[in-house]
Order: sequence, then C-alpha cells, then structure tokens
Amino acid sequence: MRKELMVEALCWETQSKIHVSYAEKDRRLSCFCPDEHCLVRVYPKTIKNTFFYAEEGHVTGCPNEAESHSDPLQPGEAKPKPSILPPTPIPNCLGMPPRPQRRIPPSKEQLIALSRTAKASRPLYPATMSKIVDTWFKIPETEREAHSLTINDHQWNYKSAFTYIRYLQNDINILDCENHIIYGDATVSRGKHYYFLSSIKRFLFNGESLPLRFDVPIRNPCLNNLADYVGQQVLFFWRGVIPAINAKHTAYQFLQPDDTNLRGLIIHPSQSK
Ligand SMILES: [Zn+2]
Repeated sequence: MRKELMVEALCWETQSKIHVSYAEKDRRLSCFCPDEHCLVRVYPKTIKNTFFYAEEGHVTGCPNEAESHSDPLQPGEAKPKPSILPPTPIPNCLGMPPRPQRRIPPSKEQLIALSRTAKASRPLYPATMSKIVDTWFKIPETEREAHSLTINDHQWNYKSAFTYIRYLQNDINILDCENHIIYGDATVSRGKHYYFLSSIKRFLFNGESLPLRFDVPIRNPCLNNLADYVGQQVLFFWRGVIPAINAKHTAYQFLQPDDTNLRGLIIHPSQSK
C-alpha cells in the first residue's frame, strides 16, 4: 500500500518508466503498473494533483495500491483521503521523446520483461528548455554530472549537456547548439530601435573577432525581460541553429525561433558579480 500518489508507471511505447506529467500530455501512451505481479493498465487522473489511477484496481497486495483504495465492487463508496504528492523529479529529457508506433498491445510476458528492465531506471520526465535551465541553476555544480539529460536522443547529463562558450576555440562552426544548450556571458545595451545582447566571447570571421548578438526591437520585444538588463552583464542560454554572420559582417546573429519551448534564447542575471 502506498501513502503517496502513484506518479510513475511503465510505458509500452517508450519502453521505459514515465512520469505522470508526461502521460498526461500524451494520452495515447499506454501505461501499466510497474509491479510485475500486477501490471494492470493505469491512466493519468487529476483530482487535486495528477496521478496514475487503475480503473480496475490493482491486484490484491500490489504495493502500488493506494492506501485510500475504495472497494472496487462499490465505486460509489470511494472515500478520497488526502494523498501525498511525491517530490517532482528532475527533468531528464528536453522535449517530448519520439514515440515509437506500437500498434499491438503488449503480452503479459512482454510487460514482465519491461518491468524488470525498467526497474532501476528513472522515469522519463520531459520538460521545456526554460524548465531545464531553471533546474540547471538549482543543481549544485558538483552534482550536475549525476543527473541525466537527453537532448535529441543524446544521453547527456546536466554537466555535459551544457557548453560554456567562454573557453571554446573561436571557430563558430564548433558550436553544437542543436544537441547541447550553449551558455555564456553577454552585455545588454540599448540603441535607437533595438536592444542588443552581445556575447563577451568572440568568434572569428575573416580575421576579425565578432560577438554573438541578439537584436530585440524595442517596440516589439520578443524577449520580455531584456529591457531590465540594459547596462548589465547577463548569462544567456541558447539552443537552436548556429548564429549566422549578419549582412554588415559585424556579428553572428541569433534568430529567435517561433516556438521557444524547446529552443531559443533565455536570459538570466549574471552569476559572476
Ligand atoms: Zn499494481
């Protein structure tokens, strides 16, 4: 019997354990109780919090049976007791992982095998780029290596997934900013029509050293908090295409993508003060 809400389940499509917040966003995933003697189908359900719920009930004695479990023969008699929400896990995947097509429901034997291989693994818990950057700040530097993080099917951790550009060579083409989140120091200034974010790190172009730059129209700022940092040093995070040389050959230009959930530029106050 569990006192905490059930937030992890086996997922047939991803062949792993997944967190309920992921199952809630993709209702086509088929989820099962991870206990190999139970393996009942579970679904995300929200009352106050979101948890995995077994419509048919878990098998008797399943450790995932909720303490407040009501009599399945008398569903009207349910007496919901306050249930504890376990701590939110650290996101371990940037964006939704690809969902393999599995049209045939799994057999009992396949589920038992999956429950055994997935036993020791952490549940898949995808998140947006801004959530992952926030999490990066929260994890002490010495512990970042211990927390896995998948980007584009690459198995990194919170240290290896992030590239600090300061110590890189000054060749723009070595930036791998699709499969990593790059970050660096920058200053923010204000021109007549634009705010400018300019990296302190420079990259070579025809013998000249040029910054990475992000231009934000003052009248229509796509990065809302940039104005707050004018005259200051900031830490920026970028995932997306490699910045390209601009028309005047004065900078390598960031172009914010339309969908900034999984890529784009994120600004934080500088830590080196
Ligand atoms: Zn169960």
